Amino acid sequence: MAPGSKDRRTFLKQLSVGILSMTALSALGKTLSGNPSKSDKMPVLFVGHGTPMNAIEDNEFSRAWQKEAKGLPKPKAILCISAHWETNGSCVTAMAQPRTLHDFWGFPPNLCEKRYPAPGAPEWATTTRETIKRTRVEPDAEWGLDHGTWVPLCRMFPEATVPVFQLSLDRTKPDGRYHYVLARELAPLRDRGLLIVGSGNMVHNLGLMEWTDKPFDWAEEFDAKLKSLILKRDHEALCRYEDLGPASRLAIPTNEHYLPMLYTLALQGKDETPSFFAEKVTFGSISMRGFKIG
Ligand code: ZN
Repeated sequence: MAPGSKDRRTFLKQLSVGILSMTALSALGKTLSGNPSKSDKMPVLFVGHGTPMNAIEDNEFSRAWQKEAKGLPKPKAILCISAHWETNGSCVTAMAQPRTLHDFWGFPPNLCEKRYPAPGAPEWATTTRETIKRTRVEPDAEWGLDHGTWVPLCRMFPEATVPVFQLSLDRTKPDGRYHYVLARELAPLRDRGLLIVGSGNMVHNLGLMEWTDKPFDWAEEFDAKLKSLILKRDHEALCRYEDLGPASRLAIPTNEHYLPMLYTLALQGKDETPSFFAEKVTFGSISMRGFKIG
């Protein structure tokens, strides 16, 4: 062995330990400071929630939600924009322990007794209020988790340990683009470990709903048109859904089930492509389409 080679090996060993330690320290520093790395960016979801029975029925949708959730990084909290919470102005739920709202009628007792005991996220609610500049967002202590939120989440995160809070839909703002622009302000929260979920149904006409497996032609065609606009990234056309032909009035007679989809789309990054995890029209006129971005 040439003189000095042992020293060199020792030096290289020490150097590699040093590099490893620096890497570990850097990772620890990021964890301690909460400084997000690129891999910390959470996906965004849109879920077509459909009937509340999806909370307790084992079917293709509840299974698709479960499967999708298994592939997600663990969120620090979940923000849901649900079709079922409309307010005058904007609100976020800010209670520590939101109640489970059974905001539906005529369903079996085992559904009406089901609870989703996830904690609330008062600190995240404050962060969200500070992040949104477009409008004043009021803290809310009364609402809870409506079925647009807890029905999909009880399948996706059945352990109910991730804190959940909701952002309301401002019913005084009928323009889709208003909601889309507001939602874009939430983008930085994805980097901080927040999973944002829009929950509605892209095609939703309860008045024309039937107990059938066969979708109405107009519902299936309109659902397909929305899918194609999503894939073309034509968000402008999706915001102006009223101009998408006569079927738009049948598919979106009121917009509260459609708008949550615009919140999800608004958070699509430049290099991100949506992937669909559910696509079917049920009861003739309810699209169960769901997708993930990121
Ligand atoms: Zn609904």
